[in-house]
Amino acid sequence: MESEKILVGDALDLRMEQQARPKDWVPPEPLPRYDLVVIGGGTAGLVAAHGAAGLGASVALVERRWLGGDCLVTGCVPSKALLRSARAVQEVRRAPELGVGATLGEVDFSAVMARMRRLRAEIARTDSAARLAEIGVHVFFGSATFSGQDRIEVEGRTLRFRRAILATGARPRGLSAPGAGEVPFLTSETVFSLTERPRRLIVLGAGPVGCELAQGFRRLGSEVVLIDRGRLLSRDDPEASDLLRQVFEREGIDLRLGQAPTGVRLRDQEVVVHLAETEVSGDRLLVALGRDPNVEGMGLEAAGVQVREGKLVLDERLRTTNRRIYASGDVAVPYQFTHAADATSRLVLRNALFRGRRRFSELVIPWCTFTDPEVAHVGSAPGSVPPGASTVRVGHEHVDRPILESRTDGFTKLHVDRRGRIVGATVVGAEAGEQMAEIVLAMSARLSVQQLVDAVHLYPTRSEVVRKAAEAWLREHRWARLRRWAGLALKLGSAA
Ligand SMILES: Cc1cc2nc3c(=O)[nH]c(=O)nc-3n(C[C@H](O)[C@H](O)[C@H](O)COP(=O)(O)OP(=O)(O)OC[C@H]3O[C@@H](n4cnc5c(N)ncnc54)[C@H](O)[C@@H]3O)c2cc1C
Repeated sequence: MESEKILVGDALDLRMEQQARPKDWVPPEPLPRYDLVVIGGGTAGLVAAHGAAGLGASVALVERRWLGGDCLVTGCVPSKALLRSARAVQEVRRAPELGVGATLGEVDFSAVMARMRRLRAEIARTDSAARLAEIGVHVFFGSATFSGQDRIEVEGRTLRFRRAILATGARPRGLSAPGAGEVPFLTSETVFSLTERPRRLIVLGAGPVGCELAQGFRRLGSEVVLIDRGRLLSRDDPEASDLLRQVFEREGIDLRLGQAPTGVRLRDQEVVVHLAETEVSGDRLLVALGRDPNVEGMGLEAAGVQVREGKLVLDERLRTTNRRIYASGDVAVPYQFTHAADATSRLVLRNALFRGRRRFSELVIPWCTFTDPEVAHVGSAPGSVPPGASTVRVGHEHVDRPILESRTDGFTKLHVDRRGRIVGATVVGAEAGEQMAEIVLAMSARLSVQQLVDAVHLYPTRSEVVRKAAEAWLREHRWARLRRWAGLALKLGSAA
């Protein structure tokens, strides 16, 4: 039984709503036909609408809830605001290690959440309905349903289009264990409406959302049990999972890995999760078992858009089986991140409006889980490194900045092909996500590790790790060969 409250509904939330879904919004009179209709006003939809309007196209955007979508209301923005407060707690706890006396007072959980709502309301201005209207986008609030190959219905209005983009996002997967119907649980949609700190939070699922929130709530003072049938962050490098496991154990998170729930029930107002040989209980249960694309209830059949096993059927250019309709963001691709929503919308815009031929597989899409340390990855993973490529690893305990910060938990791994180009990387450490920028640029621009080494990196920064890793690869694979040749040349020279 999923809790339903997404917003608290206080003055801060009303301020957010006034931007993201104004109560007094008067929808415009629809044009006879739009160049582009965008369905969904999350990151993917907003990027598409802004881009197309900027190019002079006539654009309508339909949103059933709030502009800004998941990222603004129930995803990146609230989670990163909460994690910032959690990090502050950890900084105070660790201050004595730096010679600074500090004692942690009581964490005011409701103030932490109010700060989050205040920042969310502030950020909502960026993508407000008023801003979209200013650039000429026609904004309609309501659920869009296709009524034909080239038209949708929204709140009794028909919008016809030359091209459409499905940007309807994804939603948290529910709980299917026996007993799920009787047990109240939170998901990423509802967890940010908490105003009281859970005493003991059970988190089901140790993917990015589960891991970030488990650590966040633990640092803010909840007892936390984290359950997963596999390891932490199963899509990341196993060494990264292992390092994070050690950090979580140190911070007192009760980890139940390699265990799946066999059932759930309520006992004296407590949620009980049964595992194969034991059970755990808590006052709150957070289900973070992944997210499914929103493809239902839109009349996709009427538009000739095919869905297979709950996913849109798309070609490499992210076009659906109706050649007028494209898709981007969480509904379209397995990389369910804001930057992927942004990138796929840009790609789709070119393909939809300019008959472009850009392929999804050409994009280099990194990801980062904002735990502490952060876990960031791009490209090939250890198990899928192409033949002939090799891996170098630099531990952050060998780099000055992490040493000086007393934050050496972490490493940088580069997978490099024979030609000296990076094909994949994992960075674990403080601000690992920031370090990824250089690696992604190198991969996108096909720079060689030699070029990375030649670029002067600021000292002392964490970016030096990337240079050191690139240098380590050159030392092992190029310079050793050069030294051998040089040695041979010297020998030949002295023999002559
Ligand atoms: C807790 C959490 C933390 C996250 N943190 C990060 C992070 O740090 N970094 C990162 O990159 N990503 C993060 N993400 C993922 C990120 O939020 C999503 O990848 C991103 O929001 C996807 O954007 P989108 O536009 O594809 O979908 P959404 O933002 O979900 O937007 C889709 C929109 O479509 C609307 N819609 C759906 N159906 C219809 C319809 N029929 N008619 C009209 N409107 C419709 C929905 O209401 C919604 O507003 C996080 C996600 C969660 C849950």
